[in-house]
Amino acid sequence: MSQELLAENLRLRKQLSQLLAQAKQNQQILQRHQTFDLQFIGAGSFLELIDTIFHSFASSASLDTLTLSLLDPEYAIRRILVELDVHLSEMPQLLFLQDESEFGELSTQLSGPVLGGYSEQFHGHVFPEPLSPPASVAIVPLIRRGALIGCIGLGSNDVTRFAPHMSTDFLEHMASILAICLENVINTERLKHIGLTDTLTGVNNRRYVERRLVEEIGRSQRHGYPLSCMYIDIDHFKQINDSIGHQAGDEVLRDVAARIKAELRLSDALGRFGGEEFVALLIDAQRDDAVSVAERIRRSVAEQPMILGSGEQIDVTVSIGVASLATSKDHESVEKTAQKFLARADQALYQAKKNGRNRVISES
Ligand code: GH3
Ligand code: MG
Ligand code: MG
Repeated sequence: MSQELLAENLRLRKQLSQLLAQAKQNQQILQRHQTFDLQFIGAGSFLELIDTIFHSFASSASLDTLTLSLLDPEYAIRRILVELDVHLSEMPQLLFLQDESEFGELSTQLSGPVLGGYSEQFHGHVFPEPLSPPASVAIVPLIRRGALIGCIGLGSNDVTRFAPHMSTDFLEHMASILAICLENVINTERLKHIGLTDTLTGVNNRRYVERRLVEEIGRSQRHGYPLSCMYIDIDHFKQINDSIGHQAGDEVLRDVAARIKAELRLSDALGRFGGEEFVALLIDAQRDDAVSVAERIRRSVAEQPMILGSGEQIDVTVSIGVASLATSKDHESVEKTAQKFLARADQALYQAKKNGRNRVISES
């Protein structure tokens, strides 16, 4: 074989092996993309999806910073997540915005991915403090049914990682899957929330409080803080119903729920346990604290008459039983402890009724 042919042969072999290497690399990229898709799709809750984005995805894609911004104009998403006990303050990479204008100058560019070197003025809203500013970024809009629902911000400390001319097919594909998955888990959380809410009063229901109670007992025992529980029952509610009618009775229930809620902290839990009974769970509150909150609730109901939709006024009172749980760990199951704890508050309520109603009794 001539020298020329040999050289040509070598050149072709080299080209072929380069093509094969490229094909293999493409295959690997495709597989990685499919793995991301499956992970996003597989997330069963908002927290699981967030965890997949911030941990698995961020590390497999070798990103130094990753943020998710969600438009939440009515606080609807935040309210649901907080009530479902998702600790948003522990997630600085998860940002909520009232509307698109909060993206600043970036908002006009978000019809497609924005790639390039980092500029605080332009990209700062997506990478706010305490996050350290990246060197280059890709900000990809999340769009559902033609509307912007948020964006994902990918940041790298490598200034060459994201540049304006780069292909964005993968990013756009990932963002479209992510937008669907986000909508899906938010809807799931919404359903969960509905299942744990009392439709008449808007406070939580019995199922929620019973579940929270078990969680909170476990947590208070681990961290060593006291827990208190109140059983609240409207006095002579049957007579109230009989005199003003069932529908006006419902108004009274809503008003009482609102007055109780106004005296509690955000971290406390309140549920309608049935009929005209409510249970409140006070986190990190000992007996004396709980008794003074209960006394405030009692006064706030008794001191101002309820004004009904019809304009009619009605005096309402409540009786409250308070029980507290010391921090010492006992040996029975958390479920059993929860049951006994509630029963003790119920027993104190029974005493309050027996002693004349419109009063707070704490177990001795
Ligand atoms: P006490 O002071 O001993 O608690 O007396 P009470 O009349 O409040 O207690 P009782 O348990 O005898 O009556 C509770 C009443 O609450 C009876 C029931 O008709 C009424 N009730 C239960 N659920 C609802 C509701 O959803 N709406 C209205 N309007 N009334 C309800
Ligand atoms: Mg009652
Ligand atoms: Mg009752």
